Amino acid sequence: MISVKDIKKRYGAFDALKGVSFEINQGEIVGLLGPNGAGKTTTIKILTGYLQPDEGEVEVAGYNVINQTTKAQAEIGYLPENAPLYSELSVQDYLEMMADIREIPAKEKQERLLEATKATALTDKLTTPIGQLSKGYRQRVGLAQAILHKPKLLVLDEPTVGLDPTQLIEIRSLIRKLSEHSTILFSTHILPEVEALCSRAIILMNGSIRADARLSDLADSANAVVTFEKATDAKGELERLEGATSVEALANEPGFRVIGSSGSDLCPLIFALAKKHDWKLRELRHEVRTLETVFNELATSTSTVEVNA
Ligand code: ATP
Repeated sequence: MISVKDIKKRYGAFDALKGVSFEINQGEIVGLLGPNGAGKTTTIKILTGYLQPDEGEVEVAGYNVINQTTKAQAEIGYLPENAPLYSELSVQDYLEMMADIREIPAKEKQERLLEATKATALTDKLTTPIGQLSKGYRQRVGLAQAILHKPKLLVLDEPTVGLDPTQLIEIRSLIRKLSEHSTILFSTHILPEVEALCSRAIILMNGSIRADARLSDLADSANAVVTFEKATDAKGELERLEGATSVEALANEPGFRVIGSSGSDLCPLIFALAKKHDWKLRELRHEVRTLETVFNELATSTSTVEVNA
């Protein structure tokens, strides 16, 4: 559904995207994660045909976004970060205007409008001026305009920013519902958002992809955590274990976090080592990471998580 190959974008002397590549299959719901300034909006604008990359290729639903922009855009529903909603227009008038811009045939217009407002639970707000709606409802209007033309792909830039917890839950369940009919890519810097909605996350930092993986693969690490009954001088021995790439002492208890290279199985080796030296183990376990742990690891290192997706 989406194929992005080595896109680069410079703003003046600043490299905002340094060669970004990824593919998204039909039916996936993917979170594009990254801190402020990582390049999420730039990627999304390029993907939706609103910004030209300096280099690279982008294809959506089989159309080259750079050369066949209009055809590609007909397959995309786009909710920009700050969707331009006309506050004096009613929901109905605004959506009719958007349907005209999208060149939806007159005879289909009312049916599409009804479907979009039903899907976004806006049917009882049709005559309300957009300016009088809460932020959550305005976001629904933004989503309604994005799905008016039944796009195959929905691209949502920070769809839940500024929403209160109730609105957040509503918009999340709406996105989940919309994913039944469309492939979805949405950007966010809110990690629980991705955990709640996606099976896959692409993590962008400083204009480069640092991880692209299924959430289950990201959580499953080769690292091990070992704690002892009393302080033990095990660091050197642990560092020499096959598959161990580094060892960190734990801050609050006698023990270590052993970082393992992909595919290594450290726990049996640590267990054997402890037995050999008669170190009294308190706990030995594989480390299961949250998205937050992965994100923080990536933010403080230069490594890249293997591409499993
Ligand atoms: P945020 O989460 O804050 O929206 P982002 O990940 O969406 O951030 P982008 O908006 O893509 O990041 O911006 C990436 C970098 O490019 C930032 O450093 C930003 O300041 C810079 N940038 C974006 N647009 C322009 C522009 N038109 N001119 C100059 N620099 C820009």
